[in-house]
Amino acid sequence: MQILIAGGGIGGLTAALAFLKAGHSVTVLEQAPEIAEVGAGLQISPNGMKVLDALGASARVARDAFRPRAQELRLGRSGARIFSIPLREASQARWRGEYLHIHRADLIEALTGCVVDRAPDAIRLGARVTGFEQSEAGVTAVLSSGEKVSGDLLVAADGIHSAIRTQMLGPDKPRYTGNVAWRAVVPVNKLGDYPPPETACVWAGKRRHAVTYRLRRGSLANFVGVVECNDPGDESWTAIGAREQALKDFKGWNPVVQRIIDEAPLLMRWSLYDRPELPRWQEGRVVLLGDACHPMLPFMAQGAVMAIEDAYVLSRELARGGQPEAALQAYEAKRKPRTTRVQNVARENAQLFHRSNPLYQLGTYGPMWMAGKYLPSVVHGRHDWLYGLDVTEPD
Ligand code: FAD
Repeated sequence: MQILIAGGGIGGLTAALAFLKAGHSVTVLEQAPEIAEVGAGLQISPNGMKVLDALGASARVARDAFRPRAQELRLGRSGARIFSIPLREASQARWRGEYLHIHRADLIEALTGCVVDRAPDAIRLGARVTGFEQSEAGVTAVLSSGEKVSGDLLVAADGIHSAIRTQMLGPDKPRYTGNVAWRAVVPVNKLGDYPPPETACVWAGKRRHAVTYRLRRGSLANFVGVVECNDPGDESWTAIGAREQALKDFKGWNPVVQRIIDEAPLLMRWSLYDRPELPRWQEGRVVLLGDACHPMLPFMAQGAVMAIEDAYVLSRELARGGQPEAALQAYEAKRKPRTTRVQNVARENAQLFHRSNPLYQLGTYGPMWMAGKYLPSVVHGRHDWLYGLDVTEPD
């Protein structure tokens, strides 16, 4: 088949790789004039790495990534550790895959490299898809230039503000969650005596929490700081926020957190919006993938990983033969229950780290401390359904 993919982000590129591997022709239509990623980190859990492994991309992806030693929860002000559970070796042993921290730019570069190795002309930059037309015989992507590109199938991996989703289902109605996320990446050598620990570390506090981890073999520190805020802003990767505001939001916090904010070359401010489950993900020969169909709050660190899983499952459903429309329906039926569950758990987690009442803090963190100290496998066990699944295994 000739498969068109709108969007050359994490989901679109993984899908391109999976389709090329299965013998299809692929054209990725990416709106950006060049491949340049915003500075932000991602956690790729073992369920995502198993897919990248099956597609032959894991070594390239892992090359500049960082392997966190442990998963930690600390109190934001004092830095007191509530629990620290081994992750590096435990991830392989328990979930049969690596747990990596990676810069988005490095992931995009690795995936792009894998795609162009197989098909040097597969990615078209500066190609913004504004809509689609379809018949029983095929589908056409319409570009902002007026050009039309035809194929057998159109995969919409065009992200959270998907133009194709809007044409298929109408405009969405995102609900502001009352939280904004600060994001920054800082060289560790700028942080003096206060580098973040070599762990996936959550810092919990009153109506706010932060996440720190290392990127690029440990040389960069990634920061996400989530704060409850009544003043919604842009839902955008590139919206810049004021350092003074970020410092105010984390005033009195541990020096590790404050130092990152002080030294950040840029602080991005992403307002977090939530969307309900979509009624459907496909229409004839057009199908949604990744954030286009299941945008999720970042509190499970699974948005990119779910897009990676989607790509593999879609490619496998197509490989079964038969009518493409049926394959798209089967893909939706397989993926939707899992991505909806992740969306729901992410929603629940939003409140978990923002306890303000000391009694609630004790009620939440006390059992976590006990479990982390005496029964780490119980804490790991909470993620078995998520990290343990291998979507590349025959079903
Ligand atoms: P994107 O990566 O957004 O890619 C969409 C692509 O489509 C872009 O390249 C865009 O330029 C292009 N595009 C858009 N519109 C058009 C158009 N009309 N025509 C052509 N091209 C178009 N996920 C994780 O797995 N782990 C994490 O640790 C994690 N942390 C996060 C932290 C925060 C604060 C946030 C906000 C998100 C986080 N995520 C994380 C989520 C993750 O970044 C997204 O879920 C993921 O990028 C989705 O991939 P995608 O391919 O669907 O969309």
